[in-house]
Amino acid sequence: MHRLLPDPVELGVRETEVLGAFAQTMAPGGALPAAEAEIPVSTSMSELSRRLPSRQIRFMRLGIRAFDWLCFPRRFSRLPSERRGELLERWARSRWPHQRELLMLLKTLYSLNYLRDERVRTAIGYEARCEVDGPEPADLPLGEMTPTEDGEDCEVAIVGSGAGGAAIAVALAEAGLDVLILEAGPYANRNTYPADPVEASARYYRDSGLTVAVGLPSIPIPSARMVGGTTVINSGTCFRATDAILERWRVEFGVGWARDLDEHFEEAERMLEVRPLELETLGRNGQLVAAGATALGAHGEPLHRNAGRCVQCSACPQGCRLDAKKAMHVSYLPRAVAAGARIRAGVEARRVVIEAGRARGLECVVPDGGGGRRAYRVHASKAVISAGGSFGTPELLLRSGIEHPAVGRNLRLHPSAWVGARFGEPVRGWEGVMQSYGIDQWADQGVMLEATFTPLAYCGQWLPGVTSEHQERLLDFDRIGSNGVQVRDETSSGRVKLGADGTIRVGYRLSKGEARKVAFGIARAAEIWFAAGAEEVYPQVSGNPILRRGDLAAFESRPPAGRELRIESFHPMGSCRIGADASIAPIDTDGSVRGVAGLYVADASVFPTSLGVNPMMTVIAVAARLGRLLAGRLSG
Ligand SMILES: Cc1cc2nc3c(=O)[nH]c(=O)nc-3n(C[C@H](O)[C@H](O)[C@H](O)COP(=O)(O)OP(=O)(O)OC[C@H]3O[C@@H](n4cnc5c(N)ncnc54)[C@H](O)[C@@H]3O)c2cc1C
Ligand code: SF4
Repeated sequence: MHRLLPDPVELGVRETEVLGAFAQTMAPGGALPAAEAEIPVSTSMSELSRRLPSRQIRFMRLGIRAFDWLCFPRRFSRLPSERRGELLERWARSRWPHQRELLMLLKTLYSLNYLRDERVRTAIGYEARCEVDGPEPADLPLGEMTPTEDGEDCEVAIVGSGAGGAAIAVALAEAGLDVLILEAGPYANRNTYPADPVEASARYYRDSGLTVAVGLPSIPIPSARMVGGTTVINSGTCFRATDAILERWRVEFGVGWARDLDEHFEEAERMLEVRPLELETLGRNGQLVAAGATALGAHGEPLHRNAGRCVQCSACPQGCRLDAKKAMHVSYLPRAVAAGARIRAGVEARRVVIEAGRARGLECVVPDGGGGRRAYRVHASKAVISAGGSFGTPELLLRSGIEHPAVGRNLRLHPSAWVGARFGEPVRGWEGVMQSYGIDQWADQGVMLEATFTPLAYCGQWLPGVTSEHQERLLDFDRIGSNGVQVRDETSSGRVKLGADGTIRVGYRLSKGEARKVAFGIARAAEIWFAAGAEEVYPQVSGNPILRRGDLAAFESRPPAGRELRIESFHPMGSCRIGADASIAPIDTDGSVRGVAGLYVADASVFPTSLGVNPMMTVIAVAARLGRLLAGRLSG
């Protein structure tokens, strides 16, 4: 397909200028360092943009230009500085969703690049640290991960080394099969994770962390691209799927083994050393949520996690400095390697090789050492398993010409919202476990709350206000708390499609009913914050950025529409669902892809429905179960 303009490789001069003008207006100097004069926000963004995929750069350039031009009658970057501040304040209160969305885009780019600077962090008093408590963990061998030659042979090739790929690799390697795990991303561990979260996203996240489901609202969905997959940068919270959901999988979708996962959950909990947190060690953010919930009589408890040696630092999304969190690269993958599996990092599977209706291997690409990529061919004599996650699997299947109409459909996201709060007392949320206390009082209505405090660079975008009001809240950052709302999506759904460039496009439609559930969850989180003594609450609703005690009844009497909510997602699921009914499920109940022999899927994409709880443990249990079924069939 021809393009009118070549693919952009970085932000242009004009966009850098607009971003610079925006940053100067947001941070003109004073108690916090001046943007541009002291902190080079636009240069930092421009440098970062060189590492982004061209589609993301194009999207960003369009957004920044639209922002500049829509400040009609004069472009934002041409306005005198005092007029710029007035304009941002007007847009922050605007009734028009496109004005608020463009403002949010600029605020996000500015915040990420301003707040990552050490001088700003010092001025704010933010000292997130992850120190080793006790002896360093022993390194478990993963073998030589660099691909050599032009390819290699195996019995079973697994695409993806995350929760699903690692768990099925253990089952198959321990059954004596010759397993090769192909991972598109690089390998990193506690000695190499960068301290800067923006740098971590650029190196280890798909699309540098800028994967977005387009819709009203559009929803960012970060996921990792590295050895160990998203388990390396996740929050380490461990839940089993509920019996009610698994029973639905069995009855509605014909997944006969869905109620037989207990032994796989037990095994996963043992492998990942899962245990409940203790109230005393949650950190103040979690303790305040616990206190608020208790005061209201809402049921909750400290979360179960897979990070026994965690010393609490809220740095999980950039990789745990201790590898205290038992992600796949320090748990299942070493076990698979001990059983004979090989891992290759930096190998992206582009297509499944299908001959006479049977999967025979994979066409892949690997770095050629000179900045380009070269071909790498894998021959798999017994099976190919896609475990690339809810984006990587439909991407691979669609690229390989798998024609089932439901490939890429039924994507579920657990739409999530942060609800921040400001207290009169110190919270210092970064001195705590990142995700610490869960409230399941409204779980049967599909709403869960989880106290979650994210690194500073990701918080600036959701702190309300612009210019001096935003700066004031940054200066109060040690008094800010954050709680997460997560909704089980039943009537909302999304789709993963293939773009002309062979990479995915994601869309998602949030239903009215589920927008109301998010609003309900936000109201409950606000109530909990007020019960814990918060002065003000940030519901992240357009046109309603701050709630004070007494505002809740009005908030609930006119709940925000979906397009007014600011939603994120961390749990994509179900884009290639499993089921007995061939007309709705591209994957059969044994994990096989319908219509192609020898091709299987084992990751979050096979979930027939949304889960309602954090999915990692269920991905592992399902993959282990499918692994056992497959091992019986393939060995011998
Ligand atoms: C910030 C964040 C926090 C989270 N916190 C939690 C939590 O606390 N608890 C919880 O239960 N869940 C959490 N999750 C979700 C959880 O980590 C995922 O649900 C889980 O890891 C999904 O497993 P998966 O195997 O489907 O995919 P992933 O773990 O994402 O692994 C897929 C892997 O496949 C690779 N891949 C994809 N395509 C290809 C290709 N073509 N070639 C080669 N390799 C490929 C990718 O690079 C990736 O490494 C969180 C997610 C995020 C983003
Ligand atoms: S909070 Fe996260 S990153 Fe910090 S020690 Fe605990 S598990 Fe590791």
